[in-house]
Amino acid sequence: MSERGVFIGKLIIPRDREFYEVRNPADTRQVIAKFPRLRRDDAREAIGKAKEAFSKWSKTLPVERARILYKVADIIESRADELARTLTLEEGKTIPDSMFEVVRTINLLRFYAGLITRGQGKVIPSQDKNTIIMTNREPLGVVSVITPWNFPLSLPAWKIIPAIATGNTVVWKPASITPTIAYELVKAFYDAGLPEGVLNLVTGSASEVGDELVTNKDVDALTFTGSLQTGKEINEKVGKMNRFIRVQLELGGKNATVLSRNGDVNLAVELTVRSAFGLTGQACTATSRFLVPEDMHDEVLSKLVERTKKIVVGNGLKNGVDMGPLASKEQYDKILSYIEIGKSEGAKLVYGGQPIRGSEEFDYGYFVMPTIFDGVTPDMRIAKEEIFGPVLAVMTYRTLDEAIDIVNSTEYGLIAGIVTRDISEAAKFAEGVKVGVVKVNKPTIGLEPWVPYGGVKGSGNDMYKEMGEEAIEFFTRIKAIYVGY
Ligand code: NDP
Repeated sequence: MSERGVFIGKLIIPRDREFYEVRNPADTRQVIAKFPRLRRDDAREAIGKAKEAFSKWSKTLPVERARILYKVADIIESRADELARTLTLEEGKTIPDSMFEVVRTINLLRFYAGLITRGQGKVIPSQDKNTIIMTNREPLGVVSVITPWNFPLSLPAWKIIPAIATGNTVVWKPASITPTIAYELVKAFYDAGLPEGVLNLVTGSASEVGDELVTNKDVDALTFTGSLQTGKEINEKVGKMNRFIRVQLELGGKNATVLSRNGDVNLAVELTVRSAFGLTGQACTATSRFLVPEDMHDEVLSKLVERTKKIVVGNGLKNGVDMGPLASKEQYDKILSYIEIGKSEGAKLVYGGQPIRGSEEFDYGYFVMPTIFDGVTPDMRIAKEEIFGPVLAVMTYRTLDEAIDIVNSTEYGLIAGIVTRDISEAAKFAEGVKVGVVKVNKPTIGLEPWVPYGGVKGSGNDMYKEMGEEAIEFFTRIKAIYVGY
């Protein structure tokens, strides 16, 4: 397996650095690629390249930036099958789920290419005669982008594309376990004619490379998605440096789907199964709590278990597989330990709860069964903490107010869903839940790129939204210009 490069100004293969192996989580015998473990100095150099490139890139006409983004979209579209396969090999999700990321990335490219040519300023009437006041949006400078492994293509894309579209330059550290698809995305930008230094890719440890992207004084803004714990660490570091830079933190979730007494039981079961076990539960938007009216519990639970039994677990490359492996050994150990925690807390394991072993297909991968705990109460750790795997907690409630309180009882606030036929209930729920996104009769997973997205409470610092037109706000600052004539 050949050694892959990084982008520090341009593509380089730093042969004097140690290289680490990236393995397929469905079959760990297979090495996908080798990437360099860069050092702090390398990250510093990449930030320098981004700073150098900014003066020219920030002055490029929006129409020219848009032309490059459209071209990147065409390149990715022409390579869609190959990219989806790479993503599955590296992260483990199924091919349809990988293809969903590829298509979302293409949509993001075309959306921001169109948006950026429209201009983002205003003209404001003045209190003085013969005066025009206008506002203009300007790029910030060098943006650090730090991303997790679970959406290794489309999630970085929804940060990088609006950053570059608005004239910023970027240094990106992908998660250590998913650098290959990151490399492919950056390569597509340069194949489309992006000038050197505008987008830099640095692979390596969080403690060296990640830390440099957070603390370097030439960084003008930082956008991070990852765990609450890391988000807090980063926030503290930036705070201690006493620098007024923009920091966007999108963190974890502990999302619930509520079945109302007026809701369609079959629909609720279907949406919950898709949102809890699709993407192997490794989505910030996954449903990990299913709230059911107390008097409907037995009917719903038996339907839930029957539907979950039909999930086909296996290698994401295979046709007909619904759920791939966990993405890493760390994930695998963590999920199994949460299953033990659930049992020890007295929750009732009604389905799954075990690794899958015993055949060539499963023995070398991080496969676990979709898992359902019943009788879960709000004080249990499995009801409060983000597990980030295919483990679903079934909980009961009596009134809609109580359901809303349970939804709000964790430190997170990302997404909440309700299944109901009653519009008043849907409205009351949407008003009462403290989250960034509400879904009514829809799965909690699945976001559209033209819609603003972001969590509240422990799910994000909630100063700026991602995606949609709103993403432009984070990556630009407003300048007001008064003109007398
Ligand atoms: P982590 O927080 O562990 O890591 C995320 C990224 O940050 C990785 O690139 C990691 O590098 C890097 N990193 C870790 N520590 C530091 C540090 N101290 N300084 C700088 N960089 C650092 O999260 P995971 O990768 O485990 O991702 C899963 C988490 O992401 C879940 O909590 C999930 O909910 C959240 N997430 C949130 C989303 C949202 O939109 N709200 C969407 C998707 C995921 P390395 O890989 O080298 O360790």
